[in-house]
Amino acid sequence: MSRVFVFAAGGGGKGRSWKWRDMLRFAHISQCADLAASIERDYDSLCVKQPIGRELFKLFCQSRQDLQNFMSLLDALVGDPQHHEVGRRAVGFRLQHRPEIPHDSGLTSHSDLHQCLSGEPFTQYQYSMFFDRFLQWKMLERQPITKQAFRQYRLLGKGGFGEVWACQVRATGMMYACKKLEKTHVKKRRGEAMALNEKQILEGLDSRFVVNLAYAYETKHFLCMVLTMMSGGDLKFHIYNMGEAGLQEERVRFYAAEVCCGLMHLHRKSILYRDLKPENILLDDNGHIRISDLGLAVKLSEGGLVRGRVGTLGYMAPEVVSHERYGMSADWWGLGCLVYEMTAGHPAFRARGERPKAAEMERRIQTEQEEYGDKFSKAVKDLCSSLLNKDPKERLGCRGYGGKEIQCHSFFKKVNFRMLEAGLVEAPFKPDPRLVYCSDVQDIEEFSAVKGVSLDQSDDNFYSKFNTGSVPISWQKEIIETGCFKELNTFGPEGSRSPDLDW
Ligand code: ADP
Ligand code: MG
Ligand code: MG
Repeated sequence: MSRVFVFAAGGGGKGRSWKWRDMLRFAHISQCADLAASIERDYDSLCVKQPIGRELFKLFCQSRQDLQNFMSLLDALVGDPQHHEVGRRAVGFRLQHRPEIPHDSGLTSHSDLHQCLSGEPFTQYQYSMFFDRFLQWKMLERQPITKQAFRQYRLLGKGGFGEVWACQVRATGMMYACKKLEKTHVKKRRGEAMALNEKQILEGLDSRFVVNLAYAYETKHFLCMVLTMMSGGDLKFHIYNMGEAGLQEERVRFYAAEVCCGLMHLHRKSILYRDLKPENILLDDNGHIRISDLGLAVKLSEGGLVRGRVGTLGYMAPEVVSHERYGMSADWWGLGCLVYEMTAGHPAFRARGERPKAAEMERRIQTEQEEYGDKFSKAVKDLCSSLLNKDPKERLGCRGYGGKEIQCHSFFKKVNFRMLEAGLVEAPFKPDPRLVYCSDVQDIEEFSAVKGVSLDQSDDNFYSKFNTGSVPISWQKEIIETGCFKELNTFGPEGSRSPDLDW
């Protein structure tokens, strides 16, 4: 079976619909008045965080002679982290040679630069045609989303409430994975809070190590979450179905480092993941991983703890098993379990093929010392046993420095975490694009509606909370990455505001 999708021609051969320009047609600026009045005028959100906002603010700066250098300085600062120092020095040097900036302005860092730009330039930007254009893009971003926005391809997997399908945005050609929750299944099993929780946590995240949410919408029968496409299979498959069980240390190190960064991103937002195990870590085409399936994740109040025995038994921390209150420590235990299983080729508290009863699993987790065979080097063994410390207060990652302490462990000595965070480290293993890395999903029976459950008005409140359409940062990235931004963001001659009659 081939994983190569055959796209309909048209739209420039990029998988876009031949009507893609119509789908992304700008509204007349007069139609953006409400948006202009209501949008929050926050520099950081409009000019730094939102990718299209950032592009347009950059174009604005480039159009003004006195600001041209600012943007290239900023790029020098945020670009390749290897060149951070170079960028910093360049800023220091070049600003000294700019008469309009006082010598003692001390403009040597990122935040200083932003502070300058967020003053007069940001005010002027909001009166410029570049900001008008930003509003036009925002109007497109806020269009309601229905299933007509996507083409559906093959089944990728199956979950508790429905299926996950490969899909493609007709307007841009971008591929995603669409997680479809059957409304009657959700209702029958009272999964509303869980579904909404997963969606709301996902939409607040933006990390290259966690699956991103791009759209949330509903159809007559389904609630749909459109997620980063991860077509390289899950780690469970790679540990057990690709030859001898277990992975080579280079790969263990790389995946563990990326998962560590993903968990740190979640923890910085006070989100506890709670479901770390190999099948929830997915690979993309390039061999990078992302944490997926945030159905059990919870947002903790500042420094707060939760109680609740959730997760998958073999991977639950001792403090979770024993009904105590717990915090981020549970995830670092999970990382220990993951590193152990990737290395040994079987879970930490269970031999291969063995199926102990729940009570026996609990006993082992709480009291038994896991064993380290000869597949474990000294460094990886030390990392595992520090993460699998039964006492959450003594556990690596839980002693006041969070994940930083793990990144400093000798097992990760060779890893440059700044490069990794910037996406500049190549994966040690690249999935073969001709292979499908999963058990045969075609055998999975189709999901059908549950009989005897009827949907009524009371469900609509929940559906409307779920059905929020495009997620701004993901949508803007998609528009830029697929080249649509470049092709459509043209301005009329001499800065007039009429690109191909759309205004
Ligand atoms: P559930 O929460 O119901 O367990 P999951 O989110 O785990 O659902 O998804 C079910 C299955 O679908 C996964 O085991 C995986 O095979 C597949 N899948 C999920 N998300 C993606 C994705 N982003 N890319 C590719 N496949 C995915
Ligand atoms: Mg799952
Ligand atoms: Mg889930």
